[in-house]
Amino acid sequence: MPILVELVLRPEERHHAARLRQKAAQQSGMSPAQVTHLEILKSSLDARGREPVFRVRAEVYGPGEVFTPEPALLSAFRPVDRRRGRVVIVGAGPAGYFAALELIELGIQPVVLDRGKDVRARRRDLRAIQQSGIVNPHSNYCFGEGGAGTYSDGKLYTRSDKRGNLRKALRLLVEHGAKPDILTEAHPHIGSNKLPGVVQNIRETILHYGGEVHFGQAVTDFIQHEGRMAGVITHAVESGDSPASAEWPADAVILATGHSARDIYRLLHARGIAIEAKPFALGVRVEHPQSMVDAVQYRQNPRDEHLPAASYSLVCQVRERGVFSFCMCPGGLIVPAATAPGEIVVNGMSMSRRDSPYANSGVVVAVEAEDLAPWQKHGVFAHLEFQAEVERRMFAAGDGSQRAPALRLPDFLAGRLSANLPPTSYIPGIHPAPVHELLPSFVYKRLRDGLSQFGKMMRGYLTQEAIVVGTESRTSAPVRIPRDPESLMHPQVAGLFPCGEGAGYAGGILSAAMEGQRVARAVGNFVELRM
Ligand SMILES: Cc1cc2nc3c(=O)[nH]c(=O)nc-3n(C[C@H](O)[C@H](O)[C@H](O)COP(=O)(O)OP(=O)(O)OC[C@H]3O[C@@H](n4cnc5c(N)ncnc54)[C@H](O)[C@@H]3O)c2cc1C
Repeated sequence: MPILVELVLRPEERHHAARLRQKAAQQSGMSPAQVTHLEILKSSLDARGREPVFRVRAEVYGPGEVFTPEPALLSAFRPVDRRRGRVVIVGAGPAGYFAALELIELGIQPVVLDRGKDVRARRRDLRAIQQSGIVNPHSNYCFGEGGAGTYSDGKLYTRSDKRGNLRKALRLLVEHGAKPDILTEAHPHIGSNKLPGVVQNIRETILHYGGEVHFGQAVTDFIQHEGRMAGVITHAVESGDSPASAEWPADAVILATGHSARDIYRLLHARGIAIEAKPFALGVRVEHPQSMVDAVQYRQNPRDEHLPAASYSLVCQVRERGVFSFCMCPGGLIVPAATAPGEIVVNGMSMSRRDSPYANSGVVVAVEAEDLAPWQKHGVFAHLEFQAEVERRMFAAGDGSQRAPALRLPDFLAGRLSANLPPTSYIPGIHPAPVHELLPSFVYKRLRDGLSQFGKMMRGYLTQEAIVVGTESRTSAPVRIPRDPESLMHPQVAGLFPCGEGAGYAGGILSAAMEGQRVARAVGNFVELRM
């Protein structure tokens, strides 16, 4: 039997294989030479004490003990049998791609359709947003292969780990090219330089086992037959060899179009398929020098070279409403995440090394129906119209490009314009603008009071070197697509499976991936009963 050890390691010991082995051997009463295998089960950074330490749980294998790795999940994959069913999946985000993998395991053919481009071609459109302010409404930071998470920080932690098979989702990411560390790190992340390769490998698996993936196909209508979803109609986004529109018949449709597919919500409503308004959160992105965050969290400046860029997670209550930091990107970049011309939306990403000199995080406040009286005339679209209006207001304050309105954090709190702004990671650039007035006052006042409280929780947070940038508005879907809790089908339309973040059932890469797996199993039951 291997010996279980709990190690407390200095940063340089954690990243030095021989020293790690020596410590593990020591604690299990062996010499390093006797250790035949060291299996790390969990690793986390603990920065609460005077010096940051890594806490590592590991199994130490001694003489004669053999470590047997789990067989690869992909080794059980087999080509699909088209007679067992064909399922259209709309959206090649984590929900859509993981649903496709799960369907393959069930022997059912997935046909994935996405309005955007493959990961490689998508890069050109991201460059156009960053450098020329041109937003392609089908290919951007939210739309395209891999979905909203492809060019992100690739944080992989989720609070909804009870909702699905977390380990299976992580193992599939590793088997498609992610570093095995994500299986053991307490706060794993992949990075936007590595994610596209992983996404491309997942596509190749889907194709290899008989699934289909089609890009540049925007779903514009549904095919319904006797109250059942029988497929979708797409419009080819770029004219080329493919016909302008096409029909995709299917035994079931998984709708995994993400939180920014406003046209899909409108289409559902127009076809009389029920949707509901959903609370979400809105605010700003806050950027600090990374060295300041390191200095506060680690009490070191510069930080030890073996420590990762430090992060924070802050939350408080302001007049019975949560104000919280969201999607923190240490060593990252603020990115333009608009999905249509005429709006400013920001988000965050980072490379796997998290080595930019900036730390950014969304800071948002929950928006509820009671806040939105003037928007209630829009019915189920009240939250969506509110979100869109704030994004348009931020754009109108600028010069028609993706330059974003910004203030120094103390000026934002004081409600005054900044005379100038510090350097930023946001490539399209920022300009001083009254962000405090561009935000609806109920959002601004809560943010102001919440950020003031953050300043008390984290020394130095309210520095002159920090900026707020508008607007962080795509935190989650402003609309929910209802579904039956057992069958996971829309209550009105058999064969329609709302899935992922856009339907209101996931938030983040991993939770969307687990959602996709869960919905695919429900689809499997449905398709089997029909065959
Ligand atoms: C810049 C950025 C950084 C992020 N960072 C992180 C992070 O570090 N960690 C994390 O956990 N989460 C992060 N997120 C959030 C995460 O990406 C999402 O929660 C997740 O991608 C949701 O997955 P999904 O599959 O439900 O939807 P999405 O990923 O949004 O995928 C939806 C797909 O549907 C397609 N689509 C939309 N409409 C249509 C249509 N009409 N026809 C055909 N296709 C359509 C889109 O092109 C898109 O590819 C980030 C998001 C952004 C934008």
